[in-house]
Amino acid sequence: MSRDGKKLATTLAQAGSRRDARTGAVSVPIHQTACFNHPALGQSTGFDYSRTSNPTRLALEETLALADGGCRAFAFASGLAAIDSTLRLFRTGDRLVVTEDLYGGTFRLFDKIFGPLGIEAIYVDTTHLESVRQALKDPRVRGVFIETPTNPLLRIADIRAIATLAREHQALMIVDNTFLTPVLQRPLEQGADLVVYSASKYLAGHNDVVAGAVVASTPELADRMAFCQNAIGAILGPQDSWLTLRGMKTLPLRLARQQENATRLAAWLSRHPRVPAVHYPGLPDHPGRSILDREHAGYGAMIAFEVDDPARVPHILAGVKTFLFAESLGGVESLITYPAVQTHADLDPAVRERLGIHNRLLRLSVGIEDVEDLMADLEALL
Ligand SMILES: *Cc1c(COP(=O)(O)O)cnc(C)c1O
Repeated sequence: MSRDGKKLATTLAQAGSRRDARTGAVSVPIHQTACFNHPALGQSTGFDYSRTSNPTRLALEETLALADGGCRAFAFASGLAAIDSTLRLFRTGDRLVVTEDLYGGTFRLFDKIFGPLGIEAIYVDTTHLESVRQALKDPRVRGVFIETPTNPLLRIADIRAIATLAREHQALMIVDNTFLTPVLQRPLEQGADLVVYSASKYLAGHNDVVAGAVVASTPELADRMAFCQNAIGAILGPQDSWLTLRGMKTLPLRLARQQENATRLAAWLSRHPRVPAVHYPGLPDHPGRSILDREHAGYGAMIAFEVDDPARVPHILAGVKTFLFAESLGGVESLITYPAVQTHADLDPAVRERLGIHNRLLRLSVGIEDVEDLMADLEALL
């Protein structure tokens, strides 16, 4: 159920459709304008300058807020721009407890930008509650930033339990929900304060736009995020806001098909003699599955798997005919990625090895194609 009293699929299908009373345009217009004509001194149409607010971006932001059950949402130029603006809520000397197998770009942001400014990440295994509890004992901790499922190993953290711990320590709880989206996982309902997205992935869903979002749970946090969005200015433009909103209309349908394909592909891979390990949260023996089942979350459509011999990797990446060898995820087209050299190159090699992001690991973002073609593609190369 989304906050307007309708089911999420209904809200999303009609996103932006009743906003233009003058013409009745069913698709929200792209307001490609920097500024807005004021009727008179001291009067405003509600829009002044597009950095502060733009009607097309607002249609997307209101949809994002409804979808996650948040108070307000904010659209940014990329997922990293969204995370950057969120981390500006912290001050020099603050620390955050952060998922250790983090998306490489978010790690780089903490490591190279916020660390030197005195806002430090304490990396822990956030699938292990006791580690989170220990890390929170540091009195300088003001925030918790988790990714779940993690990238690329699809490990699952207990959002509800971590949110309870964060609240006890008055730490702001931020969840990167890029992999499961509000359709399959609802962090704000499980106690998180803020949700961040790379909307470039499932939300937009067609590998055609780079965008980011933040959803705030309370008016107080919304005001602070609105201030950061306007003061920093890393906003999403009207064209890309429209594309993202258009993508979100079909999010539940796309994800259902993607998850169905991923479930079949993961089961098939886990029986394959050349594949010693498959990481997919929907597999019955996946250690995080019970958490997702308890929260009525889904398993998503990301799979990581190991091949028996690293020499096979270049052959697979050069030979795929249905999968595309490209480094993103979440779109309708299935992609294959080599995390150790692509998405996670910024991690220390020793850390990569310890986390299991080694040279035999491949990651699949499963799209909406016919799953038989996807299987045949991998079968021919394995
Ligand atoms: C891609 C990604 C990001 C960064 O988003 P961009 O839109 O590429 O800036 C952040 N978190 C996760 C989990 C991602 O997959």
